[in-house]
Amino acid sequence: MLFCLYSLADLALILGTDFAFYILKEVINLEKILRLQCVKCGATYAEDEVQYVCPDCGIEGILDVIYDYELIGRELTKEYLLNNNDRSMNRYFPILPVELMDSFEPLQVGYTPLYKVKMLREQLELDNLYIKDDSRNPTLSFKDRASSVGIAKAKELERDIITAASTGNAASSISGFAACAGIKSIIFVPKTAPEAKVTQLLVFGSTVFLVDGTYDEAFELCFKAAEKFGWYNRSCAINPYLVEGKKTVAFEIIEQLDFKVPDYVVMSVGDGCSISGAYKGFVEFQKLGLIDKTPKMIGIQAAKSNPVTRACNKNTYEFEYRKPETVADSISVGIPRNGIKALNAIKDSGGYMIDVSDVEIVETIKYLASNSGIFGEPAGVTGFAGVRKLKRLGLINREDLIVTVVTGSGLKDLKTAQLATPEAHNVSTDINDLVELMRKIQK
Ligand SMILES: *Cc1c(COP(=O)(O)O)cnc(C)c1O
Ligand SMILES: [Zn+2]
Repeated sequence: MLFCLYSLADLALILGTDFAFYILKEVINLEKILRLQCVKCGATYAEDEVQYVCPDCGIEGILDVIYDYELIGRELTKEYLLNNNDRSMNRYFPILPVELMDSFEPLQVGYTPLYKVKMLREQLELDNLYIKDDSRNPTLSFKDRASSVGIAKAKELERDIITAASTGNAASSISGFAACAGIKSIIFVPKTAPEAKVTQLLVFGSTVFLVDGTYDEAFELCFKAAEKFGWYNRSCAINPYLVEGKKTVAFEIIEQLDFKVPDYVVMSVGDGCSISGAYKGFVEFQKLGLIDKTPKMIGIQAAKSNPVTRACNKNTYEFEYRKPETVADSISVGIPRNGIKALNAIKDSGGYMIDVSDVEIVETIKYLASNSGIFGEPAGVTGFAGVRKLKRLGLINREDLIVTVVTGSGLKDLKTAQLATPEAHNVSTDINDLVELMRKIQK
């Protein structure tokens, strides 16, 4: 069967007509995924053999989607990208685990701006710093890249209830996409989740459970509930298809840099799905021959929620639980659910992990916003807080090409931002009062 389809693809190439191209595309869509591979034991499975994780390894046996890069590479070339007018992550459709373009919701995800901000470059003495603003996605976080694929996949698998446990953003994201698709969503968040994120869930129409416990406990409850009720589990950590959406950030970075490869990509780390997803994107572009190396991935955690940093520094894959304490709710994680993948991404790329304190995170919210106009949530600016620290420590150099991703919008958590902002001024309607006040303020 496979052999037969391959020859068809070859024929399509030889014919070189529109029709042949159509056949080729059909073949790629049907056959682009070769297998799913366990990150722990390396066993491989066909797509329809397993639902989420490796049956032998259980919850740690997260699966990686392996594509037929040779086949995909015939369509996904530099020319293909240059001639593609799709201004969303769907422009990478040939290398996404979705069969039909129509399975995607119309919400526009990805193709977010990559900024060079002169003021930040000058102040930090980083001449080639770029900021990728992923707070501009439909539900205002990086998680939309994963949800978009998650919902498309749920539709193709004909699942009508989707569930997620989340520190907040994965939930509000899947909730928005489920609303668009007309799929029911059932969400578990710790009861401490910021109000804006919970409001997003409610306004999108999810059934919301505020769990009296940590994110780790909400994750366990959701996992059990999905098993018991047969709901489709959106968690990036166990569902192999979700991180496939996250890798598109890497594709965009490369295209936006005109196929130059950054020296470092710096991202905040909670469960580790985002950084490992992004790294997979760079590796795949390399496999497709579009770039010749990958960036070093540097992961940043909050100092009191840093299981991945600790494991990385001890050179172990065992994650030691400590109760997380950080203002950065989106990366407040005791047990990283995708820690192995994250460590692999860090190590294989030649990168490393460092921590920043909550004080640095809060101060960075204000610093970034007031010098660039980009307002990030705490975990959203943690990567950038890391960049500042790396520079201070002399770990990165002035000329290095550095990209950091702002992963979530500041409007999602006003309380933390307010820790760093001054009071507003009260004034009467009288211009003379204003003149007086201005004199004081300018002193
Ligand atoms: C989820 C999230 C992260 C971290 O992603 P992980 O996959 O958990 O490592 C960072 N920032 C924001 C805003 C997030 O929502
Ligand atoms: Zn396994």
